[in-house]
Amino acid sequence: MKRHTTAAVFAVFVASLTLADAQTKVTAPSNKYSVADDVKLGREASAEVRKEMPMLPDDRVDDYVDSIGERLVRNIPAEFRHNEFNYTFDVVNLAEINAFALPGGPMFAHRGMIEKAGSEAEIAGVLAHEISHVALRHGTAQASKAGKYQLGQMGAAVLGAILGGRTGEVVSQGGQLLIGAKFLTYSREYEKQADILGAQIMARTGYDPRAMATMFQRIEKESGGRAPEWLSNHPNPGNRAAYITKEAQSLRVSDPITDSSDFRNVQARLGQMSPAMTSEEAARGRNTGNSRPTGTAGGSRPTGRVDAPSTRYNTYDEGGVFRISVPSNWREMASENNVTFAPEGGYGTINNSSVFTHGIQIGMARNERHSLEEATNELVNSLAQSNRGMGRPSNYTRGTIGGRPALRTVVANDAESTGRERLAIYTAQMQDGTLFYVIGVAPEGEYGTYESVFQRIATSIRFTGNR
Ligand SMILES: [Zn+2]
Repeated sequence: MKRHTTAAVFAVFVASLTLADAQTKVTAPSNKYSVADDVKLGREASAEVRKEMPMLPDDRVDDYVDSIGERLVRNIPAEFRHNEFNYTFDVVNLAEINAFALPGGPMFAHRGMIEKAGSEAEIAGVLAHEISHVALRHGTAQASKAGKYQLGQMGAAVLGAILGGRTGEVVSQGGQLLIGAKFLTYSREYEKQADILGAQIMARTGYDPRAMATMFQRIEKESGGRAPEWLSNHPNPGNRAAYITKEAQSLRVSDPITDSSDFRNVQARLGQMSPAMTSEEAARGRNTGNSRPTGTAGGSRPTGRVDAPSTRYNTYDEGGVFRISVPSNWREMASENNVTFAPEGGYGTINNSSVFTHGIQIGMARNERHSLEEATNELVNSLAQSNRGMGRPSNYTRGTIGGRPALRTVVANDAESTGRERLAIYTAQMQDGTLFYVIGVAPEGEYGTYESVFQRIATSIRFTGNR
């Protein structure tokens, strides 16, 4: 008898404990970077975003988004608060339902997200999800898994992801774009964490967390078949609406916030403004110089008139990762995440984008455990995004680079400044899966001369690190 009683009491105790604890426990992933790194990365990238993207200069709309965001931030659970973080909310004058957050707190909501939201709680849902990525430090946690990127590399990567098809010419930022896209493309595991923590933050603030699920469904519907930017960066881990709803059931929101007159006023106000550009139109504006100048890039247009590649080669050691030999009359230009070697006259700046017409670029692009061929396809696709006149490879030739299995292909590209050109693309994979790429560029008429140069350079590569 006694035993039964004890068992019964125990069962009741467990049941109530389960009820009280039904809210899912979220644990921030491990991270090799410091909180200060997040702050620095976000601060630098947000300054660039403000320069490069069309910000909506409207205090009423800004104040409204701020007020939602700040309430949510006050309700981040204590264990995920970082005093160094500074959450800011700005509205970008772009048409898509989108938003993005930078490490350390800067957050940007597209005007389209605010215009198309069905309720204030839906806006709060997107913001709470983004805030959760920041609070859990998902950007740098993801980079930690990928290998050792320098902070500068990551800054460029973040920007590449946000600004997307910013380069109109050649491939100078292609690799950056790919790393960048991966950097802001959260894993499904992180997505689920941001959904769950976001739902918890919403509930603590007084918003019905289910609005997050309806907003995500709205995004899927509105995009009309074309994968929306937001979803490609925040992939649905599967059953998203179902598990958000389930989490919501464990969270009590006694008196949920309903739409204020502010919500309707702000939507009406936006509706009266001239329509926002799409991201694509904005990117085109950047490329043709129609938007405000960035003021960051220097240099002049490449002339395309270059001396023949020297038969003497110089050897460079690149960051303890690899060694490479290139013609001695080519200049080394290291950027944040790649290095370009090009002759005088064969590189420069067009519409604030770095371009090169002759030469070779070597870089790394992280990818998620893909085969070499898949990773190469991704690289090619990402290059094609910023080089609209680029052809697709018909096949890859197998070989080796630095003793690792490698692929090689040649594609044609239409360059605005020099007309038809050819790209020789070589790829190999590092031990951690990172894609190592080498891209040689030469005008079509000169490709015959350059082909053997590219081949000789590729053959000279030796991996010196332990990646
Ligand atoms: Zn996400």
